[in-house]
Amino acid sequence: MNLAVKQQILEKIKEYNRIFIFRHIRNDGDCVGSTKGLKRIIQLTWPEKEVYLIDEDTSEYLEFLGPEDAPVPEDMYKQALGIVIDTASISRISNKNYVLCKELIKIDHHIPLEDYGDLMWVEEERSSACEMIADFYATFRDTLKIDSEAATYIYTGMVTDSGRFKYEGVTGETMRNAAIMLDVGVDTEKLYAHLYLEAYGYLKFKAQIYERMQITENGVAYIYIDKAMQDEFGLSIEQASACVGTLDSIRGAICWIAFIENNDSEHSIRVRLRSRFVHINPIAEKYHGGGHACASGATVYSKEEFEALLRDADAHVKEYKETHEGWL
Ligand code: AMP
Repeated sequence: MNLAVKQQILEKIKEYNRIFIFRHIRNDGDCVGSTKGLKRIIQLTWPEKEVYLIDEDTSEYLEFLGPEDAPVPEDMYKQALGIVIDTASISRISNKNYVLCKELIKIDHHIPLEDYGDLMWVEEERSSACEMIADFYATFRDTLKIDSEAATYIYTGMVTDSGRFKYEGVTGETMRNAAIMLDVGVDTEKLYAHLYLEAYGYLKFKAQIYERMQITENGVAYIYIDKAMQDEFGLSIEQASACVGTLDSIRGAICWIAFIENNDSEHSIRVRLRSRFVHINPIAEKYHGGGHACASGATVYSKEEFEALLRDADAHVKEYKETHEGWL
């Protein structure tokens, strides 16, 4: 698929001696894995090239994958190639120095919100951006070099963005690409331990989530995590935000949402929307957000807006249930 654009991207990588790789704010396993994975593949294949991945936005639960490069003078971005991975819109690129690059490539699997860059390879049906990097490697495996470090980065994003190969976007192609990474060598026991073991105190927090969760009339399960609750359990925003998955297995609740109060002067509330069967991205897009059909993010700025979003989600689910069969 998209062989011509992949070929063009390979040629651009060959052409430039200095390459900067970019990803989105609020790191997740996919944007970290895909950027680190591509960086490693380029470095292994062309050791003489300078490849930088500079991002001050870090995520505690992904620290086991290692740190990024220290900032470099802005001058160094000029004449360089920039590759932005897993980022639908320009405002979500975390390192703003992407503007300085001579040319920019977008590689993404989100529903397209905005075109940017000189070259774009976007496949929204891919389960992760890491799957695209694995596919890029597989397409040019006669040229590109890989090792178990790169395969581990890439496999990490494939696992996290697909909910351990559970979500709708997972295809035979996903599994074939994952198999290539496993053949290169990934210590899955260690990886899963890093990703999924939880602290004793965090499980106590989860118990409270189940205690406090609510459900709307038509089946939108939700939890509101205010600052007091974050303080009570000593949680960072990121740790509190991770709870959205705890609501994913309620029969009849085909949409579930976590609202997390941010610690900012705007009193903004992070919204993480998830769904099965019904597509939830239109709701996210209405509230300053976007993402995937069944996994989107948004932001609201008041209790009224929080309530309005919930009402919209509930009406959306109601309409879906009335017009479709087979949902559980
Ligand atoms: P999150 O709940 O933050 O993990 O977001 C779910 C998915 O939606 C991720 O793929 C994000 O990259 C994407 N996303 C989150 N917030 C936004 C936004 N404001 N605009 C576009 N995409 C978003």
